[in-house]
Amino acid sequence: MLQQRTLKSLTRAVGVGLHSGQRVELTLRPAPPNTGIVFRRVDLPEPVDIPVNTTSVCDCRMATTISPGGDPGAAKVNTIEHLMSACAGLGLDNVYIDITAEEVPILDGSSAAFVYLLQSAGIELQKAPKKFLRVLKPIEVRDGEGRNLKWARLEPYHGYKLAFEIDFDHPAVDQTGQRVEFDFSSGQYKRDIARARTFGFTKDVELMRSRGLGLGASMDNAIVVDDYRVLNSDGLRYDDEFVKHKILDAIGDLYVVGYPLLAAYTAYKSGHAMNNQLLRALMDQQDAWDIVTFEDEAKAPRGMAELAPAW
Ligand SMILES: [Zn+2]
Repeated sequence: MLQQRTLKSLTRAVGVGLHSGQRVELTLRPAPPNTGIVFRRVDLPEPVDIPVNTTSVCDCRMATTISPGGDPGAAKVNTIEHLMSACAGLGLDNVYIDITAEEVPILDGSSAAFVYLLQSAGIELQKAPKKFLRVLKPIEVRDGEGRNLKWARLEPYHGYKLAFEIDFDHPAVDQTGQRVEFDFSSGQYKRDIARARTFGFTKDVELMRSRGLGLGASMDNAIVVDDYRVLNSDGLRYDDEFVKHKILDAIGDLYVVGYPLLAAYTAYKSGHAMNNQLLRALMDQQDAWDIVTFEDEAKAPRGMAELAPAW
């Protein structure tokens, strides 16, 4: 049987929020089977649990924000996508995440530090079948026309693969790879995706700061690009780091659905909001998906059984 996974022990991290600039502490803890990923705001007078699912997403303007039931007036956690991506990349089904502020720490701007933390806690197999959300019919969301066109699509696939294309019309970004594909059967999330950092343009920084966003951003946790070039002295970690970060984000955004997907995801200039729209469109069409388990591991898509132990 392909089993659910949680952590073996608890692990902690301290950092600052990318947007709030606020210091925050995370404690990642084991959780029983069928719990899913649950954030807990432990800084409030009464701790508030926020289970991650499609409808708990309440804001996607700069990052993915969740609250109980998606209620915009309730306690929130911002910028969950890189940590969610690491959980998806390691095939973790059940984790409690205690957090002492409203925003997940940005650490180095990628998911590599979260992968390291989760792996150092160890991964435990649980006595419950791992559940997958299998896409049965193509689902697409689309927005804008011409230069403003963007879209995202899920299609049936026996496995999980993603293809993403960007087009920033910017000299520093355009000379890097604009399209990337990643298939989970490769078992190489940590090597090929996890190290890709978030990025920002200096021209947007003033605007963001005037809206109280990006207060924790620096060259230690983001690729910073002016009108012509990358300003970080070490340059890029991958030749196509920009588009790879978009895949990293998409893996985190899509894991919000509560299960690993069995699907092919393709996107053009999509982002957090559109990825969530895609999940909501999928959920709304109940004959377009089902939940499956694999009693016989040999019938599971290649790479799924080895995900975490392979590292
Ligand atoms: Zn990101």
